[in-house]
Amino acid sequence: MRLYWEQPYASTFEAQVIEAWSEGGAHYAVLDQTLFYPTSGGQACDTGTLGGVAVEEVLEENKATGRIIHRLAGPLSPGERVVGEVNWPRRYRHMQRHTAEHILGQAFLRAGGWQVVAVNMGSALCTMDFDHPPHEPTLRQAEALANWAVYANTPVRSYFIAEEEVPTHGLRRAPKVRGSIRVVAIENWDKVACGGLHVSRSAEAGPIKITKYERYKGGTRIYFVAGWEALELFDQEHQVLARLGEKFSTGPLELEKPIANMREAWYKVRAENAALKDELAERIMRELLLEFPQKTIQAQVPNLVLDSVGKRLAEWPGVLALLVAQAEDKARYVLLKHPSRPEDLEALWAQVLKPLGAKGGGSLVKLGVLPLAALHQALEGFQRHLQPKAPPSKA
Ligand SMILES: [Zn+2]
Repeated sequence: MRLYWEQPYASTFEAQVIEAWSEGGAHYAVLDQTLFYPTSGGQACDTGTLGGVAVEEVLEENKATGRIIHRLAGPLSPGERVVGEVNWPRRYRHMQRHTAEHILGQAFLRAGGWQVVAVNMGSALCTMDFDHPPHEPTLRQAEALANWAVYANTPVRSYFIAEEEVPTHGLRRAPKVRGSIRVVAIENWDKVACGGLHVSRSAEAGPIKITKYERYKGGTRIYFVAGWEALELFDQEHQVLARLGEKFSTGPLELEKPIANMREAWYKVRAENAALKDELAERIMRELLLEFPQKTIQAQVPNLVLDSVGKRLAEWPGVLALLVAQAEDKARYVLLKHPSRPEDLEALWAQVLKPLGAKGGGSLVKLGVLPLAALHQALEGFQRHLQPKAPPSKA
């Protein structure tokens, strides 16, 4: 027996375990009656406890048998009498979402003749898909209408009708089920077939806020929050805006201008920084070429321009170079040569840098890191290694 339809506001109940079994490490139970709502119709199932054991998921086997299966964290025994407790804050939020969905469905119908195609209420941010493309004025009007329906605070009732009675009941859309049909009616507002759980007055579903919309499959997908979850989202967003406001010494609603100003300033600084780095890299490269006329170069350069100096030098015919830079607690290096140099870069790396603990790779340009302590040893090692092949000094 489905207690949840009769007593949607109850959160504890007693029941007898009719069947219980374990399978693949999970435990299951079927009860003679239950308050646990099973996942269906876009509404997520209840969670809670049964005889002190956590209820992880509740599923309806199929409409025909109506068997409701509780998946549990531990085993129960057939015949056992148990007290069930539904996670009420979760359940109530689901009831609010579900009622808000009905209210919005009718609001969109009235605002623009839009019909609901699909809904998803699996998380606080629910979605509804409609059969019309996005139209901002319709969305705004529907949201306003929905909240008027909330403030009207009319009763929400559910009852069953026979399939044959459907045409005379003025339902918002044709029911998907057959036989005995459960109608959920929000007085003076909406009537639709639904097997879900709802609050008992429209006011309990509010406020209703559409947070986002997008074009979806030729129609519109809206995202909405309702009830406590709308308030919680408002609170979170307000806190973020208030903190940002403090940083910019302004109110939450005046934040756009200082942020736009900062972005503009940042783009300018970034462009200037890139230009300055380019210029610095170019100058350092020229200086190194003058300082090392044989084009066998070893030098420490600022970390900021290590890569770009390396790239520039690698394009210079006759160059073989080891550049190092200090980067916080380590050293970075670039070992490179122009294709015109005969040296074996791999061997040079293996003999000079590898013994110092270098990591990294590459063929014509080797990039990597070194322990900071090895920075000068690397430069000396490079010079020593290449000395025999260097032309005799004038001294
Ligand atoms: Zn419903």
